[in-house]
Amino acid sequence: MADTKILVTGAGGFIGHHLVNKLKAEGYWVRGVDVKHPEFVATTADEFELLDLRRWENCLRATRDVQHVYNLAADMGGMGFISHNHAQILHNNLLISTHVIEAARINGAQRFFYTSSACIYPNYLQTETSVAPLKEDDAYPADPQDAYGWEKLVSERICQYYHEEYGMDTRIVRFHNIFGPLGAWEGGREKAPAAICRKVAVAKLTGNPEVEIWGDGEQTRSFCYIDDCTEGILRLMHSDYAEPLNLGQDRLITINDLAEMVAEIAGIRIVQKHIPGPQGVRGRNSDNTRLREVLGWEPSISLEEGMARTYTWIEEQVRQKLVSTADNTLAADPSIT
Ligand code: NAD
Repeated sequence: MADTKILVTGAGGFIGHHLVNKLKAEGYWVRGVDVKHPEFVATTADEFELLDLRRWENCLRATRDVQHVYNLAADMGGMGFISHNHAQILHNNLLISTHVIEAARINGAQRFFYTSSACIYPNYLQTETSVAPLKEDDAYPADPQDAYGWEKLVSERICQYYHEEYGMDTRIVRFHNIFGPLGAWEGGREKAPAAICRKVAVAKLTGNPEVEIWGDGEQTRSFCYIDDCTEGILRLMHSDYAEPLNLGQDRLITINDLAEMVAEIAGIRIVQKHIPGPQGVRGRNSDNTRLREVLGWEPSISLEEGMARTYTWIEEQVRQKLVSTADNTLAADPSIT
C-alpha cells in the first residue's frame, strides 16, 4: 500500500478534500489537483498542484507517476447552479472526464475511479414524492434531468468502454446527495443540506425565524454523510466491481422535514416561507441492494448525527461572516438537488 501513489482530482473541493484526508490516514502517498486550494482547511496531500484539467497537457502532468486515479473534478453545484448552466457544465465536465481518463491510460495508471451521480437516473422514474428507490439498472432508457446528468452518464460509458476495450481497471460510483462540514455553504454552489443549515443559522443568529424554501418543500431526497461516502469510495476502489454502483443512504425525507430537523438541532423554531425556485426531480432515493451485495456494507451514520455535525460547522461560518460583514442577506438562495 505504501508503494501505491494516488492522484485525487477535485482535491480542493468538498469530497476530494475529505478523500485526501482518508487516503493519507490509510498511509498512501497522495497528489491533489484542482483549480483551487481547499477553501477552509489546508490539504494533507503530499503534493498539491493547481491545474485546469480541461486542458490535455495538464491532465498528462496530473496523472504522471501514479497507480490509482480518483477523478472527482467537476464543475458542479446545487440545483440553482445545475439548472442554469447547462452549456458550461457539459463543456467543462466532458473535457475533464475525457482528458483525465485518457491521460491516466497513457501514463499507465492501474486503476481509475469515476464519480458519477444519482442525477443520471431518468426523469420519468422520479415524478412522485413517494418514489421507488432507484436501482443501478434503472439508468436506461436514459432521460437524465440536466446536462450535468447527461455528462455523468456519458462518462460512465467512457469508463466502461476503457475497461472493455483497453483493459483499464475502472470503478464507477453514483453518489446520492453527499453532505458534511467543509463544503460550499453560500455563494450559489451549495446544496440543500448546507443551504438549509445556513438559513437556520441566520434565523438563529439574527432572530428572524423566516426560512425560505424553493417550491412546496415536499420534494424528497436521501442524504449521505461524508465519512460514509469516503469509506464507500475506498471499499469500492478495492473491490473487483467495474459496473456503476449507488452510494448513498436509503432514508427518504422531505426538504420541509429536513429544515425542521435542522431547526431542532439549532434549538429554535422556524417559519417556513415557500418561494418559487428550481426543485429538481420530485423524489429521489437510493436502492442499496447491490451496494450491500457488492461491498457487504452500507452507509450507517444517521441523518440526525450527520446534520448535527454539519450544522455546528456552518453555524460557526455564519457567525464569523455576520460579525465581519453584518451581512443579513445570507438567508437567500436555497439550493436543492
Ligand atoms: P466540489 O465542487 O466541492 O468539488 C469539485 C472540484 O472540482 C472543485 O474543487 C473544483 O474547483 C474542481 N474543478 C472544477 N473544474 C475543474 C477544472 N477544470 N480543473 C480542475 N479542477 C476542477 O464538488 P463535490 O461535492 O466535492 O463533488 C465531487 C465529485 O462528486 C464531482 O464529480 C461531483 O459531480 C460528484 N458528485 C457529488 C455529489 C454531492 O452530493 N456532493 C453528488 C453526486 C456526484
